[in-house]
Amino acid sequence: MSRIDPKGVAPQEEGSLYASRQKVYPKAVQGRVRRAKWAILIACLTLYYLVPWLRWNRGPGMPGQAVLVDIANARIFLFNIEIWPQEIYFITGLLVLGAIGLFAVTSLFGRVWCGFACPQTVWTDLFMWIERRIEGDRNARMKRDAAPWSRDRFLRKLAKHAAWLAIAAATGGAWIMYYQDAPTLVASLLTGGASLQTYFFFGLFTGTTYLLAGWAREQVCTYMCPWPRFQAAMLDENSLVVTYRAWRGEPRGKAKAEGVGDCVDCRACVHVCPTGIDIRDGQQLECIGCGLCIDACDEVMTKLNRPAGLVAFETLANLAASNAATASVAPGPVRQVCGMKARQPVRFSRPRTWLYAGVLGGVVAVMLTAFVLRETVTIAVLRDRAPIYVRLSDGSIRNAYTLKLGNRSRPEAALTLVLDAPPGFRLAVQEAPADAQGRPVLAMQRESLTQWRVLVTAPRGATLPESTPVRFRLLGADGATAVDERSVFLAPK
Ligand code: SF4
Ligand code: SF4
Repeated sequence: MSRIDPKGVAPQEEGSLYASRQKVYPKAVQGRVRRAKWAILIACLTLYYLVPWLRWNRGPGMPGQAVLVDIANARIFLFNIEIWPQEIYFITGLLVLGAIGLFAVTSLFGRVWCGFACPQTVWTDLFMWIERRIEGDRNARMKRDAAPWSRDRFLRKLAKHAAWLAIAAATGGAWIMYYQDAPTLVASLLTGGASLQTYFFFGLFTGTTYLLAGWAREQVCTYMCPWPRFQAAMLDENSLVVTYRAWRGEPRGKAKAEGVGDCVDCRACVHVCPTGIDIRDGQQLECIGCGLCIDACDEVMTKLNRPAGLVAFETLANLAASNAATASVAPGPVRQVCGMKARQPVRFSRPRTWLYAGVLGGVVAVMLTAFVLRETVTIAVLRDRAPIYVRLSDGSIRNAYTLKLGNRSRPEAALTLVLDAPPGFRLAVQEAPADAQGRPVLAMQRESLTQWRVLVTAPRGATLPESTPVRFRLLGADGATAVDERSVFLAPK
């Protein structure tokens, strides 16, 4: 059991290099930031849990799930879009887009991702909400945890962990639904008919959700996540971060004391903080930028009939300007006016943000172009290397190739293969019918990869260079080239 001090944290052994976890008991808070966080939480969770259940008609024999990572068939389905293994660069592009978008948002608004939309924050917030419903708010929880075990405490803990496990199971199950058909998966999980791997991953994701959101909580952000370590590189003095306006709050003191600032040292901002820190100590790695301390302090200021915003989203540049403008002004309303007047409008247009916007725009343009120009039929030509050529009984030289064709279009396709080569070169494809002009016709099932054995023979007695460029072209029904690939024809020196 954690020993609790009056601030709601367990003390660290003095002189020890090991710091035991300081348990945090965040207090519930109301306000505009909290409302925004609830809205984002509901939107994120609704999307996460519901998307696997969206259906999409792709025709018979095709998966009917709108978003599906079909590992068995090596495809990713996103509504009407289908990503094949050779197009994995689209997924890479999406990840790059996400990363640059995150850099841009961080440079503008600090750690809003961490504080509002990161899965660790969203699920921890949900788990804390459950905890409050069952065990009560901060004071009740601290009191109960500090007291000896009782039936009431045991039952509440049991109910809380059962609820956490149920949410964790729904979360782990939903994750697997992105990889398997959702209704089929649920039925097989419930009837015990799912594969061992499915049960393993279901257990793994359930367990990690339960541990990370229920137990580890703020420690994930402080010790495990690398993002806080390098996000400093994206922030500058014009980024909006959660700050305590010390120029206005200090020296802190009782509400009715003379010559003190606006901070009444009530610690409401500390009590609501999910990471247990004091925003008045300045910028800290542990601060996830959730802004709940803003709501807590605004509530206190409103009760005291003082302007809100002692803790606020603010730029470090404005903080420095207000500090300088109020250095010689005594605490009180005049100081408040001086400090706020020294502020400048937030500069969203900065070299850094333009750089991120430029890179973002460039990646989007490249991806869109690649997507619009993507071919529904692909061709790869592999020339035999052993032997590199064959001399036939009549003296002519023959090369063999393997043609790999991919048909990503829905209908079946029958394409005519032609060879661009010097006069007299002959083309034959094993097991392929010929059209009226004797050209091989390669039939491809829809959504398939097919392989053909192609033989190219040079005319007998021809004087050949060691390497002759050739081109294989596939013609559509309209006679136009659908796709082509270059190769070489090799002959003896
Ligand atoms: S200091 Fe404020 S913004 Fe930072 S984590 Fe704590 S409550 Fe959230
Ligand atoms: S909530 Fe506001 S007034 Fe209270 S300690 Fe924090 S900064 Fe000071």
